[in-house]
Amino acid sequence: MNASAPASYTWPRVDDRLRQAVGRQLDRSLSDRDGRGVIGEFEKEFASFAGTRYAVAYSSGTSALHAMCAAAGLGEGDEIIAPAYTFFATATPFAYEGVKVVFADADGWGNLDPAALPGLLTARTRAVIVTHMWGNPADLTALAEFCRANDLLLLEDCSHAHFADWAGQRVGTFGAMAVFSTNQKAITTGEGGVLVTDHDQFRELALLHGHYNKRAFQEINPQAPHYRYALTGMGLKSRMTTLSAAIGLDQLGKADDIEERRRAILDRFADVLDGNPVVSLATVDPERGSNGLYVLGLRFHPEAATVTAQQLTDRLIQHGCEFDMPGSTGVIANEPLFHRPERAMPWTMVPDVEPAVFPGAQRFIDTFVKAPLFGYAGDEQAVAHHLDTLVAVSKDVAR
Ligand SMILES: *Cc1c(COP(=O)(O)O)cnc(C)c1O
Repeated sequence: MNASAPASYTWPRVDDRLRQAVGRQLDRSLSDRDGRGVIGEFEKEFASFAGTRYAVAYSSGTSALHAMCAAAGLGEGDEIIAPAYTFFATATPFAYEGVKVVFADADGWGNLDPAALPGLLTARTRAVIVTHMWGNPADLTALAEFCRANDLLLLEDCSHAHFADWAGQRVGTFGAMAVFSTNQKAITTGEGGVLVTDHDQFRELALLHGHYNKRAFQEINPQAPHYRYALTGMGLKSRMTTLSAAIGLDQLGKADDIEERRRAILDRFADVLDGNPVVSLATVDPERGSNGLYVLGLRFHPEAATVTAQQLTDRLIQHGCEFDMPGSTGVIANEPLFHRPERAMPWTMVPDVEPAVFPGAQRFIDTFVKAPLFGYAGDEQAVAHHLDTLVAVSKDVAR
């Protein structure tokens, strides 16, 4: 085992090119009121990266998810089916708008299980939102089919899945709209988020939820009924900053490199872990799709080991590795935010609810261990250290 502790994971790596991109933007503009500057340039590049007609940039993925909820026209009296297991911001903006969030259990990949949908459908269901957990695409064929058959909007949270596809098609292009957080995700703007869509109307409504006044006047069709809100928008301003957009353009310029390096690391782990009874790579079968390259996900096999997944993780950490079992991403369904019966009720009065159990999500959580995917030329030592340590420790704890 390689004993020297490698440099810890930092993302993105601040190189000269990034420094210069931000420096140039400092001289150019610190605030764009329309889409003619760096924000518009970033959106154009992001749309081309995502394979959609439009992209709209926000100050965070959470804000972009809020714009998606509002642009979809969802509010009080509506229901959305969401994953019980995801990062909470997939669903919190819907709760904020008074939408009732109905939670679906996870399949073997930690993704919303399409088989759970029929039992959750009501006359008020308007949409389904899905996250591609840890980069593995959800079963978009089944989800899209269910949504079509029941006249529901399909919405995607692609924050873990910037580089993923399903059945040969990019994730984020299956539904009405999709959101990519660009916080410390595979493509990052520092803080930020992007809403993508192919639909003019959704794009214009999304602009009204965050990009008001000058930009809305320039870019919304004056014949559209919502044009009269161009000045005020719908009440919130949450556009991306120019410096974040400059960072994003730099990162998009490096997307091919990031993808190539990260896929190569996944392939190496796949090779080395082939036949390992204790841990396997938690990456979707290439015949079904490709992983989104957010993290290195591992599946732990408790029946083959003398320790628990947490104990294995602790040992790896003792050897200077950055493996962990995700903390703030878990079962979100029991959070009080989702249990306000109506929007007018003060948050202080929301009743406690009987915690619901989601066995599929729990099975996934109990056996999922992750590590950073790294992705820079200088990371070779860290990658090798994680790989060697994982092999040695899993051998040690094998039954
Ligand atoms: C990061 C993330 C978000 C939230 O994005 P922010 O940019 O941090 O607001 C939403 N959903 C998922 C799945 C995420 O990983």
